Amino acid sequence: MGKDQACANMPPSPPSKHQLDELIREINQWAITNGLTMYPPKFEANPSSASVSPVTVYPTPIPKKCYDEAVDIQPVFNELYARITQDMAHSDSFLHKETEAMALSDPEFTGRLWSLYLETSKIAANRKQALKLGIFRSDYLIDKKNDNDQIKQVEFNTVSVSFAGLSGKIDRLHTFLNKANKYDIKGPYYNESNMIVSESGFLLSKALAKAVESYKLQQKISASNDPIVAFIVQRNERNVFDQKILELNLLDKFNVKSIRLTFDDVHEKLFIDNETGKLYVKDSKQEIAVVYYRTGYTTTDYTSEKDWEARLFLEKSFAIKAPDLLTQLSGSKKIQQLLTDGNVLDKYTSTSEQKDSLLKTFVKIYPLDDTALGKEGKRLALTDPLKYVLKPQREGGGNNVYKENIPGFLKSIEERHWDAYILMELIEPELNKDNVILRDNKPYNEAIISELGIYGCILFDDKEVLVNEFSGSLLRSKFNTSNEGGVAAGFGCLDSIILY
Ligand code: ADP
Ligand code: MG
Ligand code: MG
Repeated sequence: MGKDQACANMPPSPPSKHQLDELIREINQWAITNGLTMYPPKFEANPSSASVSPVTVYPTPIPKKCYDEAVDIQPVFNELYARITQDMAHSDSFLHKETEAMALSDPEFTGRLWSLYLETSKIAANRKQALKLGIFRSDYLIDKKNDNDQIKQVEFNTVSVSFAGLSGKIDRLHTFLNKANKYDIKGPYYNESNMIVSESGFLLSKALAKAVESYKLQQKISASNDPIVAFIVQRNERNVFDQKILELNLLDKFNVKSIRLTFDDVHEKLFIDNETGKLYVKDSKQEIAVVYYRTGYTTTDYTSEKDWEARLFLEKSFAIKAPDLLTQLSGSKKIQQLLTDGNVLDKYTSTSEQKDSLLKTFVKIYPLDDTALGKEGKRLALTDPLKYVLKPQREGGGNNVYKENIPGFLKSIEERHWDAYILMELIEPELNKDNVILRDNKPYNEAIISELGIYGCILFDDKEVLVNEFSGSLLRSKFNTSNEGGVAAGFGCLDSIILY
C-alpha cells in the first residue's frame, strides 16, 4: 500500500473529545488488565500500586520496506558485534587498543569497566566461561532526507536493553482496539495484517533459556539439577513489569527458574565455589547458569566501590554473562563511530553485501581527536553544529548535547578531553501529527517522531557463533520538542508499528 492510500485511513486529527475519552478508558483498563504498566515514582512506600505506561493511542505508520530491512539486517549486526567482542580480547588487535584508549579518555566509566575486564582476563583458561550471550537492540530513525525512507542507526545497544516485554503488550493493545472497532477507522490501512505484534518478550526469554541449556550441556548437568538465571537489577527499578515478563516466560515456557538480585544482594546471597568457579545461591545452593544484567550500564548504577566489586565478582564466576564486560564495551558509541569506516568494517564482515547493507544504515560519525577525521569533526562541531549531536560514552538517555549547545559545551571543557565524545550527524525523521500520547491519563496531541528498535540475540564463544536470531521489535515515540526518547526516563512513550 502506498503512503497516500495509508494517509487516507489515518486517525482523525485531532479525534473528538468523546472518542478520545472512550479510547483512554479502554487503554487504561486493558493496560492494567494485561500489565502494560510500570511503578510510579516513589512507589517504595506503596509497592502494590502500578501505573499505566506512557503509550500512544494509535499505532504509527512505518514503511514496510524499512521494517523489513531492519529485521533482515539484525543477524548481520548481531554477528558483527560478536566478532568485535572476540577481537577485543586479543591484546594486539586494533579494537583492543582502541578500547584501551577509550578507557583512558573516560576513566570514570569505560575505564572502570575496562580495568575489571583486565582483572578477569587473568583467570586460568579452565576456570573461564567461554560462552557469552548478547541480548542486543539496534535502534533506528527513518531518515527523510532526499525523500527516500531509509533506516539510519541511532545506536547499537549491547547491555540491558529494555521494553522487550512491554513492546508485545502495546502491540496487542493496539491490535485489540482495532479489532474491537474502538478506533472507528475503516479502510485497508487498519487491517490487522499490517499491525506488528512483537514476540520479543518470548524470544528474549528463549535466548536466556538457550544459554542455560548450553551451560548444562557444557557442564554435563543432569535434568534434575536445574541451574537458574540471575537477573541483576537496579535498586528501586520502576520498569519491573517489563522484566517480569521475561522471568515469567522463562518459567512458563522453558521451565527455567530465576532470581532477582541487586548488587547488594550479590554480596549477601551468592557465593563462588573455589574449586570450579561456579556461582551459587547461598541458601538454596542453586547453581546460576546465566547472569543477566538489567543494571550496570551507567555510572549511577555503581553507587560505591562495593557495587564495582559485585560486578567483578559476577564477571569472575563461571556463569554465562549476558553480556560480559567486553560485549558491553563493544556497544560503545566510540566503536559505533569506528565502524562507519568501511576499512574497519571489512575486518568484521564476511561479504561485501553484508558490509554494504550495514553501511547503508550508518550516518556520518566523527571522532574529536587528533586524527584527520577528528580535526574535521572538531571543525564541524564548532562551525556547523546544527547538523549534529554530541555523544559521550554513556547509556540510558539524557547524556547527549544537541545542535547549538555543542560549541559552548565543548568550550567549557579542555580540548584534550574532547576525544571522550563522538559527533554524529542528526537523522531527520518525519513528524507524525496524527497520533496522541497518553501519559498519566492525560492526552497530548503534539507532533511525534518514532524510533524503531530491533532485538537480536546471539550466543557465542571465542571463535564460534552458536545461536544468532532476530528477536522482535519495539517502537518508541517522543514529542518532537524533546531531544531524548527514553520511556523510563520520562521523555518518550511506547508505540506500535502499522506497516504501509
Ligand atoms: P542512549 O544510549 O543514551 O540511549 P542514544 O544514542 O540512543 O543514547 O541517544 C538518545 C536519543 O537521542 C535517541 O533516542 C534519539 O532520540 C536522539 N538521537 C541520538 N542520536 C541521534 C541522531 N543521530 N539523530 C537524531 N536523533 C538522535
Ligand atoms: Mg538510545
Ligand atoms: Mg543506548
